[in-house]
Amino acid sequence: MLNIIIFGPPGSGKGTQSAKIVENYNLIHISTGDLMREEIANDTALGREVKKYIDKGMLVPDEIIMRELYEKASKHLDAPGLIFDGFPRTIVQAEMLDQMLEEHDMPIDVVLSVDVNEEELFKRLMGRGEDSGRSDDKTDIIWRRIEVYKEQTMPLIDFYKKQGKIVSINGMSPVDQVFGKIIKAVDTYLETREIIPAIE
Ligand code: AMP
Repeated sequence: MLNIIIFGPPGSGKGTQSAKIVENYNLIHISTGDLMREEIANDTALGREVKKYIDKGMLVPDEIIMRELYEKASKHLDAPGLIFDGFPRTIVQAEMLDQMLEEHDMPIDVVLSVDVNEEELFKRLMGRGEDSGRSDDKTDIIWRRIEVYKEQTMPLIDFYKKQGKIVSINGMSPVDQVFGKIIKAVDTYLETREIIPAIE
């Protein structure tokens, strides 16, 4: 089994790269953002609840995210592997994920941290807002999401560094070049079980 976390600020290209990784390594894609947007699109009670947070650029409470995550992940425990995209976003979520995976003897193998500077993130998200139709791709909300990332999610870099699982990927290049770096990181891991700490 190959379990990957793809990690990075909003606009770093996590979703785009996840789709390519899924295809290349035949993994199941688990995006908590997509799960939330599906609930909103179906206008469920949960969708209406989480929309309040998402539209403000805030994180959805851990209990809700974990419940949805368990439900989705438990259907795919026999898959060749999982890629978690936009999850975990807090230390609590990361600890609960470790616990869940440990119980099933299927630890996280590699954590890909895609690095993009703030100016570029903002440019990309503003551009995306014009055609994504996402209610949270608006100027003030974009800044809030980047702040929330720095405050609540960045501490996870140290969490996974301590576990020796982080690969920092320079995400400032075109999509295919970033994907090439990801392939290098994951293939090296598969061949040698070694983590390359950073790829420029
Ligand atoms: P994303 O598509 O990953 O950028 O997620 C969009 C929004 O959904 C985020 O800004 C959060 O409000 C919410 N969300 C997605 N994943 C999580 C998570 N793991 N924890 C808390 N909130 C989340």
